[in-house]
Amino acid sequence: MTVKDLYEKVVNGFIISDIELQRAIVYDADKQALVIDSLYKGIPLPAFYLWEREDGKLEVLDGKQRIEAIKKFKQGNLKYEGKTWKAYAYDSDLQEVVDNTELTTIICSGNEEKKREIFKRINTLGVPLSKFEVLNGLYHGEYISGINDYFAQDTNIRKVLPNTAIDRGDNKYRLLEFIYYVRKGGIFPKRSELDDYVQEHKDESFNEEVKKIKPYISFIRDVFGDASKIGNMLKFKLAVKYLKDRTIWLQHKDAICKDCNAFIKSEGYKLSTSKEEDIEAMILGIVGNLRVDPKRLFTSDDKAELISKLTPDAQGLYECEECHQHFAVEELTVDHKTAWSKGGRTVLSNARLTCRACNSRKGNS
Ligand SMILES: [Zn+2]
Repeated sequence: MTVKDLYEKVVNGFIISDIELQRAIVYDADKQALVIDSLYKGIPLPAFYLWEREDGKLEVLDGKQRIEAIKKFKQGNLKYEGKTWKAYAYDSDLQEVVDNTELTTIICSGNEEKKREIFKRINTLGVPLSKFEVLNGLYHGEYISGINDYFAQDTNIRKVLPNTAIDRGDNKYRLLEFIYYVRKGGIFPKRSELDDYVQEHKDESFNEEVKKIKPYISFIRDVFGDASKIGNMLKFKLAVKYLKDRTIWLQHKDAICKDCNAFIKSEGYKLSTSKEEDIEAMILGIVGNLRVDPKRLFTSDDKAELISKLTPDAQGLYECEECHQHFAVEELTVDHKTAWSKGGRTVLSNARLTCRACNSRKGNS
């Protein structure tokens, strides 16, 4: 199909580009001009996916924004290098080149279910949509509109999960995961599970979900504010688990933020599940008035310093302070005398050498 064919079919309604299954992203004028530029310079555009309906008309599954750009340009509403379509009629070959450019079109047919599946595949394998944009395209309805409105209007959610133009709905997706987590009693969904959940609730109001999550969102806003750097999923988990202790957590919110940030700084930003447990222990320490050291682990420098103060045996081995057997330096770990989770500091005066077996047997040190 040439550009000219495609344009005529769109204008006379044989190709329908304005259907529900479409991405929320809209090209700006620069990106639209880039479509024209590609056509003129012979740079191939991605394939257009069209869906053949029973009445023979074609719906656009992928390519709407490119079609919009062509339409706008040919109708005089978009300029390419400062000139409109008409202005190119006299002194340039642009009209001819663009009109005769062959486009790659892929026409599919089948039932509604297959159509949705193809849409999903295009957007999983092709130009990637964000996970939320896929849901937005597939299950557009009252539920999805509701979450969009919620993010547009509610100041609490905007504070807890800022929705910026760059994140392309990532935080909306995160909120859906959290809703699922709350609804299913503490399980985060796999992608397909969330997909099914949204499909199931497609035509329902989002208000019930808002009612359900509101207390947690307020808890997170009030305790962590926007200063805390710990991850959203961890905040969600903590909110569900400790909502009942809201009053006491609020009394300690400044210390919680300060120590969480210090912890993250000392551990680096990559939080593993075991570090999540450490953060939880630390916060529980704070709200129980038992302060734990934001520095969780001894470093290799700490170990070297500790070793330098000890005398090895005749074989050059050191004693495990738990089982009293002797080990090479590499086989020994530095451990807290008073457990870290019970308020023990990560300082050398609270450090001791233990073998790996003793250290792991002792567990939460
Ligand atoms: Zn030992």
